[in-house]
Formats: sequence, C-alpha cells, structure tokens
Amino acid sequence: MNTRKSENIYQEAVKYIPGGVNSPVRAFKSVGLNPIFVDKAKGSKIYDVDGNEYIDYICSWGPLMLGHSNEDVLSGVEEIIRKGTSYGVPTEIEVKMAKLIVDAYPAVEMVRMVNSGTEATMSALRVARAYTKRNKILKFEGCYHGHSDSLLVKSGSGTITYGVPTSPGVPKDVVKDTLVCRYNDLESVQKIFKEHGNDIAAVIVEPVAGNMGVVAGKKEFLEGLRTITKEYGSVLIFDEVITGFRLAFGGAQEVYGIEPDMTCFGKIIGAGLPVGAYGGKREIMEMVSPVGPVYQAGTLSGNPLAMYMGYKNISILKENKNIYKELEQKAIKLENGFKENLEKLNVKGTVNRAGSLVCLFFAEGPIENYEDVMKCDVEKFNIYFKELLKRGILLAPTQFEAMFLSNAHTDEDIEYTIKASYEAMEIAFDK
Ligand SMILES: *Cc1c(COP(=O)(O)O)cnc(C)c1O
Repeated sequence: MNTRKSENIYQEAVKYIPGGVNSPVRAFKSVGLNPIFVDKAKGSKIYDVDGNEYIDYICSWGPLMLGHSNEDVLSGVEEIIRKGTSYGVPTEIEVKMAKLIVDAYPAVEMVRMVNSGTEATMSALRVARAYTKRNKILKFEGCYHGHSDSLLVKSGSGTITYGVPTSPGVPKDVVKDTLVCRYNDLESVQKIFKEHGNDIAAVIVEPVAGNMGVVAGKKEFLEGLRTITKEYGSVLIFDEVITGFRLAFGGAQEVYGIEPDMTCFGKIIGAGLPVGAYGGKREIMEMVSPVGPVYQAGTLSGNPLAMYMGYKNISILKENKNIYKELEQKAIKLENGFKENLEKLNVKGTVNRAGSLVCLFFAEGPIENYEDVMKCDVEKFNIYFKELLKRGILLAPTQFEAMFLSNAHTDEDIEYTIKASYEAMEIAFDK
C-alpha cells in the first residue's frame, strides 16, 4: 500500500496543526501509524490522496447514514449556497428542521440548533441546572458527551465517585459537581441519589454507549434512571448524538420506550456538516434566551446550508423507514460473520451490536460497562487494524469505537469485510 502522499502532507501538517490533525483520534497514533489523508468519498468507499480505496466504517463517526456524498442529500445544495451562506437573521429551513425533529420525538416539544454535539450537551446541562436551581450532574464512566469542561471527567477509584478531570486545564472546581457512576449499574445510581439526590440537576447518559465500543444500556437500567430522576426532580438527558435517527427514526428513546426530559442531537442531523441540537419539554426549553434567562447563542447556529443538508438527510430517512430494517440486516450479517470467525479461530472476543452499530471486542464477554471494555487486548487490535487497512478496510483507529454502517454498504462489502477480518485475526493472534 503506497501512502507516500499522505506521509508528505502529514509531515507538513504537524508543523502547523497540533499532531497534524483537528481532532485527536484522527491521528492513528493509538495504532502506531500516521494518518491517511482523504481525497474524496462516495457511498461506502473512501479514497486517500494516494488513490487507495477503503470500505469506510468510520463514516465521519456517524453522520453518514446514507453513505458518502449521497446524491439525494446533495441535490439542490448548490442553489442554497449561491443564495447566501449565512445571514445572522432567521430562515424558514430552521423552522422546518425544528418541526421535523419535534414531530419525530414526542419527548422533544421545542429544540434549539447549535453547531456540535459538544455544544448541545453543554447547553442542555446549563438549562437543566437553571431549571432545577441545582448544581450537581451525574454522568457514566465510558460515556462521552463532547469536550466541555464539566463533562471531561473520569471516575476516581471505586464505583461511586466524584469526578476527576480527564484533562489538564479542567479546574478541579469545575468538575467537583460532576458525579460519575458505572454504566448499567443502577445500584450505584441509587446509592449516589440517596446521598446527593436533592442536589442533582441532571443525569446525562448515552442510552446506547457508542464511545466505548458499543455497549447497550440495559432496559432496567434506563428505566431505573427515568424512575429515580422523576422521584428526585432531576432532569434526565439522553445524549442521542450517535443514536438519534440511527437506532430508529425516533432514536433510542423510541426503541426503549422511555421519554427523557431533554435530548441532545448531532452527527446525523447535520448529514456531515457541523450541527448539533438540544431539546425537550416546553417548560424546560422556555428557560432559554430570549424567552427565558438562560443565555445560549451561536453566530452560525441554524446555518442554512447545514439545515438544508440535515433536513434532506432526515427527510429521506423519514420517507424510507425500511432503511432501518435493511441497515440492521447488514449489521446482523456482520455480527454473525464476526462471531463465526471468532469461533473458527478460537479467539477470545465479543461482538456487541445495537441496531446498525457493531463492535468486535478482543475480550471475553459479557461487555456491559467501561471496566469490561478496558479488558480488551489493545495490542492485538492494533495489528488487526493494520491488517484490515492493508486489505482496504478502514475502521476507527481504536478498539474503543463503534463500526458505523451506512445504507450504502453493500452485501458484497460486508462479505469481503468478514473474510478480511478472518485473515487479519489469523495474523493478529498467530493462528
Ligand atoms: C460525538 C459525540 C458528542 C460530541 O459531538 P461533537 O460534534 O464531536 O462535539 C457528544 N455525545 C456523543 C454521544 C457523541 O458521540
């Protein structure tokens, strides 16, 4: 595999951009490689500047449910750009977008558009704190909600803890109000609510965790969160930045039949443009300025181009709900293929799948929380990753991310992936 052009660009990139990348996971550092630089992509395929072709399972980390440069999503885009790129004055497409989201999510009565998932969760927490007049928030180990200060925490030792910053630059004082519990462990939540319940403004959770591989929330766990937050008057926030419009059209909340008080969106609702959104019950959302006192703003929020693409993306999903079944069938095929491979090669591994999100962990199951995920053999994964890359398959360059399937992935893509995965495991595990 020739990657000379990518190498050259990378050498130039590191001079001007920290690590040569604008988001750390793109660096391929965890697998001991330098990044490939992309030229273009179409459908399920991505092409680097050296002309190598890969079946893409990153898909921009989730937004591209319909694959790269989908013609239906793109049609009409040029006209929109030519009209103007941003106005700082409202446009009708923002209203259409809001209505589309509100119609799809019964728990979302009003919605505010922002520019990223990070902004969505950060803003939702501010609103929840103002609404409850409380300061503490509760999150779960292994769930990622973007990189705002109060959410950049890990748990200390023990199952129930006060947050410890995961990054220098985050003051201890900022995270002192962030409590951390173990995912899928309702008991730890009940304990912490006994102690702090009346000070907890919000519980924020990925209903299906997609940032520690794929770990689905157990139904009893999520239902338990709903019950306990109601009991104590805390706001339950579902971070559906990955799962929204992916797990089902109505997101994880539709699949589990649970209505959170607030919901965060991102990724798919922007179709690959920078978009996020947060919404919820009218009473809560009317806290937001200019109706209410909570300040939250954005020069480019509700950008017409982003709204147009996002609106198209979601509308296509709305009109073609069979896509969800098709996508799940593809994911099941991948899941079964991986399981068969593990068995044939006698390799200790676990395949977790939720809808079209799949993860092959190199550790024995069940994998239900962050601790379980951390048992994975990362060195074997790194070899596995490189062998797949050589065979024209692009995974997220870490064991701890999901494989994102798009509707553009063909049966042929999946079959080839299963075969290549077998060969890569043979090499990684010396079989
Ligand atoms: C990606 C992600 C975010 C952050 O979104 P950005 O657009 O990267 O800021 C938040 N929550 C979850 C669940 C995510 O997967």
